[in-house]
Amino acid sequence: MLAPQPKQWIMDIAPYVPGRATTDDGRKVAKLSSNENPLGTSPAAREAFRSAADSLERYPDASGAIVREAIAAKYGLDPARVIYGNGSDEILHLAAGAFAGAGDEVIFVRYGFAVYEIAARRVGAVPVVAPDKDYATDVDAILSLVTDRTRIVYIANPNNPTGTFASREEIARLHAGLPGNVLLVLDGAYAEYLDADEDDGALVLASAAPNVLVTRTFSKIYGLAAERIGWGYASAEIVHALHRIRLPFNITIAGQQAAVAALHDEAFVAHSKAHNAKWRAWFAEQVASLGNAGVRAVPSKANFLLVLFEGALTAERAYKGLMDAGYITRWLPGQKLGHGLRISIGTEEEMLGMTEALRGLVAEAR
Ligand SMILES: *Cc1c(COP(=O)(O)O)cnc(C)c1O
Repeated sequence: MLAPQPKQWIMDIAPYVPGRATTDDGRKVAKLSSNENPLGTSPAAREAFRSAADSLERYPDASGAIVREAIAAKYGLDPARVIYGNGSDEILHLAAGAFAGAGDEVIFVRYGFAVYEIAARRVGAVPVVAPDKDYATDVDAILSLVTDRTRIVYIANPNNPTGTFASREEIARLHAGLPGNVLLVLDGAYAEYLDADEDDGALVLASAAPNVLVTRTFSKIYGLAAERIGWGYASAEIVHALHRIRLPFNITIAGQQAAVAALHDEAFVAHSKAHNAKWRAWFAEQVASLGNAGVRAVPSKANFLLVLFEGALTAERAYKGLMDAGYITRWLPGQKLGHGLRISIGTEEEMLGMTEALRGLVAEAR
């Protein structure tokens, strides 16, 4: 019998697996699996979201003007060159849609963000995986894989799921080593967690270079993951190409208004950043004290730690044990990280409880 046949390159995609919100037995417990803001959302953003309920019959402003203006004002950018998306995920897909096609090559790192491979395969491009350097981005490995078919290099900085960070010098060296026709996508989903002196220079590069696209999101430190809103910055030419293929009304009224309010609530962002820095450092210290049990954390500049289990306690058992104790973390065997758990920084109560549960599991496995 005849039936429509999906394209082979579509069927080759391994679907994205989101962080879980419930346990195997359906309990809703502490969710440390999706790098969300444990402190919630700015009250001002919540209020802006509510007020959008007054105009549900209207289409949103397709040009995202209030979002573009607010971002441009905050970062000193040209509002005409700000692109916006249904989460920054959409912008990552737009980049592949506009700049790569069948037979082209798209490079990303081995322990990288799962969306890059999906975005590449979706347009029939060939994913090219660069080896890591102790879980971190290896600029030389990436540059050595560039061919005349390379169209895009995707880098998350800080990286997810490793939390590792490439310095401004490394990013500049990567950009300098790429041919001008290769689009460098610098995904800054966790950029707001960096200190001011740790800026990787991504926005400055995107302002000046004709082949750099920066992506950012309101899903992480701004606590608006539910609203699906992200933004990007690149040359006018790149942004015009992306506009041609985005959905006409890709960001909602509520999302636009909440994003602008969140951007202006600098106190909430500062508080979230300080909370994260404190508990990330605390948790890293706790994990370091488990070193003789073969448990260690990859150094992180994001809002999570990748914890590696190389001793008697396996990552799978830790994952299940933490779930039994009421803490959902991210075990990533599908990303060749069967020996690691990515654990988001939660509330104080969650961090204390989860760490105690982890200590118990380590002691039990000895
Ligand atoms: C969370 C995340 C994103 C963004 O997600 P959106 O919610 O679609 O904005 C993008 N890149 C990385 C590396 C992430 O971890």
